[in-house]
Amino acid sequence: MINSARLTGLTGSVAKALNIPAPEKAEASLPEIDALVEHLSPSGRADRVLIYNPDAVAFWLFQKYTELFTPVMIRTNITIPMQAVFPPVTPVCFGTMYTGAMPAVHGIEKYEKPIIRIYTLFDAVARAGKKAALIAVADSSMAKIFLERPIDYFFAPTDQEVEQIALEKIAEDQYDLICVYHMDYDEWIHDTTPESEQAMAALNRHVQSFAVLSDAVKQHWAEHQTLIGFAPDHGLHETIMGVGDHFADIPADMNMVHFWGFYPAKA
Ligand SMILES: [Zn+2]
Repeated sequence: MINSARLTGLTGSVAKALNIPAPEKAEASLPEIDALVEHLSPSGRADRVLIYNPDAVAFWLFQKYTELFTPVMIRTNITIPMQAVFPPVTPVCFGTMYTGAMPAVHGIEKYEKPIIRIYTLFDAVARAGKKAALIAVADSSMAKIFLERPIDYFFAPTDQEVEQIALEKIAEDQYDLICVYHMDYDEWIHDTTPESEQAMAALNRHVQSFAVLSDAVKQHWAEHQTLIGFAPDHGLHETIMGVGDHFADIPADMNMVHFWGFYPAKA
């Protein structure tokens, strides 16, 4: 079956957590994330958000390799089985994640990387006078479709360099929203198979990256009410040609797993 929680809700929840108006086309927020913030934040809000976006972390990976996700689970409070949007390819899904709108509304309905022309979470943050940073692998979908916003962009050639920049920006404690995009797992699944040694090593690196980034948040944002998310874009399957891919309206491709945590400010 396809998971019920909709990707359109992420932007609305983050906007609600930051106490700012959601972008115009954003659909209903995710009640699970809203409840987490309301439950753990003394003010009912967050003043910092870190979203880690690893590409193609399918729900079935979490089912089959649950233990591998332990570093993410122990740093977060809730796990949400999520439904991607169709077609489950990177620019279409991240387009929905950060506008709160379906593909027909945000305008990317196939694998292409134009700049999105409706309001995004990044616009909403900037319009509220807050600061956002988008840190991504250069030339990726995430480095292209959200350009031309009044936010700070940091692009680097590798996941490792992206992580280093993210750690610097977290330590600077200047941004209200930081989004970090990693793509090694997705790269390896297209070159090998979803469970090849190289792909699984990349998946494990994504888990470790989230751990390192969220530990840095705990250290450097200790005075803030912080919401953190581990939020991939779609799943994947192994094709009859024997490689990993994602494009189909099937549970393997449409289901992914998200984790969210809330770190209350230290008194
Ligand atoms: Zn992707």
